[in-house]
Amino acid sequence: MNAPEPIRILLVEDDEDDYILTRDLLAESRRASFQLEWAANYDRAVEAMAREPWDVILADYRLGAHDGLEILREAEARELTTPIILLTGAGDRDVDLAAMEAGAADYLVKGNLDAETLERAIRYSLAQSRTLAALRESEQRYALSVRGANDGLWVWDLVRHTVYYSPRWKAMLGWNEDEIADSPEEWFGRIHPGEVEVVRMAIEMHRRAETPAIEVEHRMYCRDGTYRWMLTRGLAQRDATGEATRLAGSMTDMTERKQALERLTHDAFHDSLTQMPNRALFMDRLERSLQKSHRDREHRFAVLFIDLDRFKLVNDSLGHAFGDEVLVAVSERFATAVRAGDTVARLGGDEFTILLDSIEHAADAVRTSHRIQEALVVPVRIRDQEIFLTASIGIALSASGYDRPQDVLRDADIAMYRAKGQGRARHEVFDRTMHDSAVELLRFETDLRRAMDRGELRVHYQPIVSLDQGIIAGFEALVRWQRGDVLVPAAEIVRVAEDAALIVPIGQWVLNEALRQLVEWNRLHQGPGPLEMHVNLSARQLLQPDIVPMIINAIRRSGAAPQHLHLELTETALIENADVAAKVIEGLRKADVRVSLDDFGTGYSSLSSLRQYRFDTLKIDRSFISPDGARRDDEIVRTISKLARLMGMAVTVEGLETAGQLARMRSIAIDFGQGYYFSPPVPATVAGALLNHHFRD
Ligand code: C2E
Ligand code: MG
Ligand code: MG
Repeated sequence: MNAPEPIRILLVEDDEDDYILTRDLLAESRRASFQLEWAANYDRAVEAMAREPWDVILADYRLGAHDGLEILREAEARELTTPIILLTGAGDRDVDLAAMEAGAADYLVKGNLDAETLERAIRYSLAQSRTLAALRESEQRYALSVRGANDGLWVWDLVRHTVYYSPRWKAMLGWNEDEIADSPEEWFGRIHPGEVEVVRMAIEMHRRAETPAIEVEHRMYCRDGTYRWMLTRGLAQRDATGEATRLAGSMTDMTERKQALERLTHDAFHDSLTQMPNRALFMDRLERSLQKSHRDREHRFAVLFIDLDRFKLVNDSLGHAFGDEVLVAVSERFATAVRAGDTVARLGGDEFTILLDSIEHAADAVRTSHRIQEALVVPVRIRDQEIFLTASIGIALSASGYDRPQDVLRDADIAMYRAKGQGRARHEVFDRTMHDSAVELLRFETDLRRAMDRGELRVHYQPIVSLDQGIIAGFEALVRWQRGDVLVPAAEIVRVAEDAALIVPIGQWVLNEALRQLVEWNRLHQGPGPLEMHVNLSARQLLQPDIVPMIINAIRRSGAAPQHLHLELTETALIENADVAAKVIEGLRKADVRVSLDDFGTGYSSLSSLRQYRFDTLKIDRSFISPDGARRDDEIVRTISKLARLMGMAVTVEGLETAGQLARMRSIAIDFGQGYYFSPPVPATVAGALLNHHFRD
């Protein structure tokens, strides 16, 4: 057998005594032979590193103006894979970590150095650097790269049953160099009981050459009493017969990476605002409940679909940041209203869902809805603001026999809509008829889409009467749909049209039609003054980017005078689109078009809209014109009309149905009135015949 090649060592040491000491220690070694070159300062070291490859570099931490870490950096810059062992003084303990992080293979404290320790450190760092090189070669097979710098290293001598653990390996667990011996027990005794077997298996299989490498994740018990997630990798060295004689590898702390991964997974399945499960997670759990109910007929579940009533107003009037806080507060209340096994999720906006995973009876779901409503009874308090909230809840039950989770959710949603339609702050349990009416709604929508082309839309006109003269000052154009025998009222058309994005073409058609009619009446009719035409504009129309030029064009094409057109905006439409609304109103007024505030008094912040925008007319909602003449209502109307006058606006009251109401309004000195008392909305021919009528009380 040939004598083994000597190990070539570069010793970077500025203290000659220390050089001699090290040289002598190395000479003592019987197990290996070393060839030592001494670099007495930093520059000589750099020069030697550049000149030739070394098997190992021993570098003193203190090098005059330089330090050992610079040697490490130098090696890294040169992409040297040579293991570097740092020699530190007894007072440099805290350097250890920095050294290992900078990529030192090992560090040794000079004071208590003996021949054996030095030799062992050299041999193992060599073995490790070979292992690392091998791992690096097989890196493609691993998702993570082996950097070595932060990894603890271990070399398991299978013949002697000892394991060398690098200082970093020990430090990763919170222990010092001399506090962990070299038995395999030091390792296995610290592995989390749940993973001991997995680790043994991974090692055993690789020993038997059944796997290309050891790669196993497991927790390790640390000195501070915690467990940290580690990734242990390793390769076997084999003798001529293929028997593994030695295993060498690394241990990487995966705790943070694992936590980051957990965070990512958490984020993917949770709503970032409320930290509650999101739609994806909810659907996943729902799917599972569904499967469970297929396997076990006794297993029943329910889905609650919750939508906060008028939440948009909170958002729009108090700001989105405020709205967000309300949502967080609300979600916490929901969470306390359910049992531990139930899932409360936020689908988005103000929509929440709850999965009651295991219920006895439909009544349990209803009971939970009551608890949800009760949870909202106490107003939500945020920064001295009290917000009163209610929710509309739709319930779908597994008893309906679903196959797909999205169908359950859809039906709960349909039931929720029904609850809203029935007057909010209530719940509805989904049933077949709801499904039917949802289908009916869809048909309505499809038919409405065709109604325009088929010429089924109509405009009816309702006179607006000048109260002191008793004559018609103008008309309000109100859309109707002749659907077979049924004349569909505006509210229904508008509600569906808004959702189905049909309101814009319908609104445009109504505007053209009304303008055409206005021009015709003004041409034929000889009254004391020209007639005005009132046309309603919905929220969606306001949002059309070209709404102002569109209206101006329509006026121009019709030949009408712009000041004879009044556009009626409701407060809700304004609040929903405050910024846009201001611009549109401004644009219209510049073009000399009149603007009215419709349904005044039904919104949340009526007075603030008066301050924010300029209107020509205020239309007081009919809810203030009580038929029995409640004094309080009259007082309100009187006050509003005074205010309007001060601000240069005319006042119209809506919904005049009786002579008594008319008399009261006249006494309050209201300018205009509109209502069934004069005439309901009627077709143009009927309306035209009213023009010469004098309305007396
Ligand atoms: P609005 O602008 O407040 O219109 C007045 C509504 O009150 C009309 O309902 C009218 O028929 C009704 N009304 C009039 N006088 C009386 C009365 O004495 N008593 C009672 N109880 N009701 C009376 P209609 O036509 O069903 O319209 C409902 C709403 O639909 C309108 O409220 C308006 O906001 C909207 N709308 C109507 N036509 C259109 C349109 O072409 N485009 C848009 N965007 N919205 C429209
Ligand atoms: Mg109106
Ligand atoms: Mg109105």
